[in-house]
Amino acid sequence: MKVSCGFCGRTYEASSGLENAFREWRSRRLRYGRLTCEKCGKNGPLDIRAARIHQPVAGPPPNQYRCPVSHCDGWVEHVKWRAKKIWRCGECGGEWATQADLFAHLEAVMKRYPYRKKVYRRVKDGWESVKLTEEPSNYEERVYKEPFEDEPHLPRTRAKPRA
Ligand SMILES: [Zn+2]
Ligand SMILES: [Zn+2]
Repeated sequence: MKVSCGFCGRTYEASSGLENAFREWRSRRLRYGRLTCEKCGKNGPLDIRAARIHQPVAGPPPNQYRCPVSHCDGWVEHVKWRAKKIWRCGECGGEWATQADLFAHLEAVMKRYPYRKKVYRRVKDGWESVKLTEEPSNYEERVYKEPFEDEPHLPRTRAKPRA
């Protein structure tokens, strides 16, 4: 399997240790991680599906958000799912019918776990993700300390609809 690095521009065959790591990340359906390039030694955000280490300027593509479900460090994307377009987290299976629902949930999780505010940024019409390099390096670690949500599809953190 080949890995490419945005720092040094090299594409090379991953070591067997790295191959195993990729296998595990993919089985957990993780989208992003961090990796130290085996050629230049620089550490940066890793796009696991593309096997590419980003340079610090790179960020998550637009319309992707860290999943707001407790204990989930996955990414929510706007995807086609059973003939509908919905917002869905590939890791926990959380679903939101509209972006407004998703944003309400982001706001609820930020109230519940204030450290999560560091991965979102307020914009004119809602929220955007910060660049991967701006995320706290212990983000995943902290997420894993949160309790599991009993029912990710109906999260307890969901904001009450405004009257
Ligand atoms: Zn490199
Ligand atoms: Zn999730």
